[in-house]
Amino acid sequence: MAKRDYYEILGVSRNAGEAEIKKAYRQMALKYHPDKNPNNKEAEEKFKEAAEAYEVLSNSEKRARYDQYGHEGMKGMPGGGYGGGMSMDDIFSQFGDIFGSAFGGGFGGFSGGGGRRRVNKGTNLRVKVRLTLEEISRGVEKKIKVNKLVSCSTCHGTGAAGGSSFSTCQHCHGTGQITRVTNTFLGQMQTSSTCPYCNGEGQTITNKCNSCAGSGTMKGEEVISLNIPAGVSEGIQLSVGGKGNAAPRGGIPGDLIVQIEEIPHDELVREGVNILYDHYISFPEAALGTSVEIPTIEGKVRIKIDPGTQGGKVLRLKGKGVPSLNGYGRGDQLININVWTPKNLNRQEKEILEKLMDAENFRPSPGAKDKSFFERMREYFQ
Ligand SMILES: [Zn+2]
Ligand SMILES: [Zn+2]
Repeated sequence: MAKRDYYEILGVSRNAGEAEIKKAYRQMALKYHPDKNPNNKEAEEKFKEAAEAYEVLSNSEKRARYDQYGHEGMKGMPGGGYGGGMSMDDIFSQFGDIFGSAFGGGFGGFSGGGGRRRVNKGTNLRVKVRLTLEEISRGVEKKIKVNKLVSCSTCHGTGAAGGSSFSTCQHCHGTGQITRVTNTFLGQMQTSSTCPYCNGEGQTITNKCNSCAGSGTMKGEEVISLNIPAGVSEGIQLSVGGKGNAAPRGGIPGDLIVQIEEIPHDELVREGVNILYDHYISFPEAALGTSVEIPTIEGKVRIKIDPGTQGGKVLRLKGKGVPSLNGYGRGDQLININVWTPKNLNRQEKEILEKLMDAENFRPSPGAKDKSFFERMREYFQ
């Protein structure tokens, strides 16, 4: 199913401010909250959809990206669909910001009565991946080995020793939440907080597993294969859902956040989707014309230099740049031609050049002046 426009989902205009977006989301979240719409698949979808829209539009960086590239641009952003959408857990963790602490950290009015048992979530893992310009240009599958918390192999992540049993927490009666009623000047207010005796899990273990001391996790490693799309750039973060640290006692694992680093190329410089290359030719080559070999991301290419080429001319190799991350088109390679002025001439060379000094053809004619450097660069980067 095609994704709906985030602005449309929240019912706000494209230039809506932060406060307006927050307000729109708050209304949506209240309307479609699962506690208010039990067993209503459609409401749940709407609830998730709104949370995803808010996640993007409330973050200036993600919003700018979305405005420019649409849903395609969100691939590779944390929570942006690279490893699947947002989980219910992510959504509820967003609520602290949205509904404030007036209700004591719980979700206003809902968690007090029903009680939402906390699901353990593993922490996110961060790794850096260094890529060559060639890898960035083609896209690449990278296998990386990460040290992380994995599920305990003895107790299979439950944290319980063999033969032990789970019992309902006496303090919160299995809800994972402790509810208090306090008197305030606004009247009675119900606040709920995570049960400290069972850490919000609603149950306790009689005998803890010896291998993991009841945590359900242990140190381990995993080889993870990453499909990195073509066109990524320095600083971009890809999020792989569920590949982070294992959660205590069988919860949801965290995410693996992959930060991209570019290995500088020996000869080529990347500028967005374009590649820049500086090339020197000799003065006779500039005057007589020649052909030269140029490195590109896809190997050597031979290009023609016309007779009478001026230093500072920029040649363009169409489509020899980097693909754009959203998959539409790719940039060009721009070659800046410099004319090398010789130094340390010997006597014979000096004599030849002195003879040419007065030659009319060797003087720059006023009419020969091309567009200014700045005009040319502006054109190339349009
Ligand atoms: Zn264990
Ligand atoms: Zn408890």
